[in-house]
Amino acid sequence: MEKRCLFCEEGIYEIYAKPSNDPGICERVRKLGLRTIATNNWMVLVCNKCGNVQLFRQDLVE
Ligand SMILES: [Zn+2]
Repeated sequence: MEKRCLFCEEGIYEIYAKPSNDPGICERVRKLGLRTIATNNWMVLVCNKCGNVQLFRQDLVE
């Protein structure tokens, strides 16, 4: 299920972080400037060519 980058159309999105309680994952997400406390709710994908970032909050949808 590779996803081609929407911006450069060359790279592939790689998973940077998934929703998790793991403190290491929370720290990775904080380094992007996103806020997490005990639980990371962000799923973050990063293009491996241009660095385009896609953010998802699956906890906010039914
Ligand atoms: Zn890209």
